Amino acid sequence: MKLYVTATILLLFCLTISAQGLLTEKQIFTHQDTLRGSITPERAWWDLTYYHLNVKVEPDTKFISGSNTIQYKVVDTQKDLQIDLQPPLKITKVTQNGEELNVVDDGNAHFIKLKNNQPIGSIQTIEVSYEGHPKEAVRAPWDGGFSWAKDDKGNDFVATSCQGLGASVWWPCKDHMYDEVDSMLISVNAPKGLMDVSNGRLRSIEQFGDTKTYNWFVKNPINNYGVNVNIGDYAHFSEVYDGERGHLDMDYYVLKDHLDKAKEHFKDAPKMMKAFEYWFGPYPFYEDGYKLVEVPYLGMEHQSSVTYGNHFMNGYLGSDLSGTGWGLKFDFIIIHESGHEWFANNITYKDIADMWIHEGFTAYSENLFLDYYYGKEASADYVIGTRKNIQNDRPIIGHYDVNNEGSGDMYYKGANMLHTLRQLVDDDDKWRQILRGLNKTFYHQTVTTKQIEDYLSQETGIDLTAFFNEYLRTTDIPTLEYLLDKNELKYHWTHIVDNFDMPVQVWINDKEQWLFPKADWQTIILDSNNNVLKVDRDFYVNVNKL
Ligand SMILES: [Zn+2]
Repeated sequence: MKLYVTATILLLFCLTISAQGLLTEKQIFTHQDTLRGSITPERAWWDLTYYHLNVKVEPDTKFISGSNTIQYKVVDTQKDLQIDLQPPLKITKVTQNGEELNVVDDGNAHFIKLKNNQPIGSIQTIEVSYEGHPKEAVRAPWDGGFSWAKDDKGNDFVATSCQGLGASVWWPCKDHMYDEVDSMLISVNAPKGLMDVSNGRLRSIEQFGDTKTYNWFVKNPINNYGVNVNIGDYAHFSEVYDGERGHLDMDYYVLKDHLDKAKEHFKDAPKMMKAFEYWFGPYPFYEDGYKLVEVPYLGMEHQSSVTYGNHFMNGYLGSDLSGTGWGLKFDFIIIHESGHEWFANNITYKDIADMWIHEGFTAYSENLFLDYYYGKEASADYVIGTRKNIQNDRPIIGHYDVNNEGSGDMYYKGANMLHTLRQLVDDDDKWRQILRGLNKTFYHQTVTTKQIEDYLSQETGIDLTAFFNEYLRTTDIPTLEYLLDKNELKYHWTHIVDNFDMPVQVWINDKEQWLFPKADWQTIILDSNNNVLKVDRDFYVNVNKL
């Protein structure tokens, strides 16, 4: 997520937070950025297989303590082993095979000095114990950490969020996106009378004095920022959805006072499932089920436990990001954050510089939801309406290997780029098969933008190299410049990268036709001397009549 907001005040607030808290504006990168954002030699030699995160959460003192047992396969010559954990949290002990190991700290990165020989191909385990007062989220989820809130009855209402900042803000891990753990057990000890809801399925509940530990098991690969703790006085209801891969458990956890309105409002969840399975293929985590979990912040795409804080209203906190009215036909958080199950949790970026793979496709999914229920015109109105949010301030793709996001335009410029691509494909069934094919081909994988771009070129049969260079790597919008002179139409593209030659549909008088502009001027002869040209609104381009 890292939602893009248009309501002016929210937008300013979001950008302020961005500038202060995230890495988006920063152009000078530090040694710490490299340790966080690159596949260092101390990460590359081992492959994650399993985590058991065991954490006790104490809201009264805003203190957490516990351990992460990390199992890995040795894939190259052993070196020190890098684990990330952000201060003020502290690693208290690291052990392997019962022996305590030395740790050399370098800011957020901790280099563990292994004692045992680690043959290539072997499976090894280390246990990292830690504790402290984790960073408190000021404005979750745009910054991140723990949100320590209270519900209306005064009960603790606690949640984590950490996209961008990294999961190491609250638990020790290999904090880089390229390596997803294959499966994970999350054990959370919650305060008396409260429940924890994390990812995957609830395997067991253990009683410890007057508190309980909730053991949640995730059977599928999961990215770090997808892992979450949510503690509250939850009520639970559920349904079984008859989906493309059979029965899917859909479970809902909301504060007890919100149960009645949630039962009505969450009807958008099965509607979402139906539309997105149609467009993107089967929900990618049937084994882990799907959950919507109420939290004290707006929401986040936590895998198989999508978090929800949109106050049971349609739109984005009640407003329509497109300004067309169509954005009020659905709950933005249910649709958008769940769309990420396909684009973020199924297909995951390796490097946050390629975050458009998550946000471009997911922002685009909003209009496909509308398309499914209200038709193609409604969906086009919506996605075109969201163009007003585009800034063209910086390229969509960020800097690699330093944990750097590109422009927030990854949302709605990304969505409009994909909407434009749908026009170029000009065959909706083929376009749907391409979107489904993406989710099948890159099932449960971490990917680069190049893999996605190449796949789309191959499957559309169009060389999209210049198309993606233009929209993802520059702030220019292709501009169709044209001149009507009696019965002559002269036209070409400006503000384009080399080799950009996207065809575009135009209306000339009342007839729609394709033009094939390039950088060089072209001329066509028209039937009459009195002509009007209009570019099809579905293409995200500028037009300049000379
Ligand atoms: Zn998102």
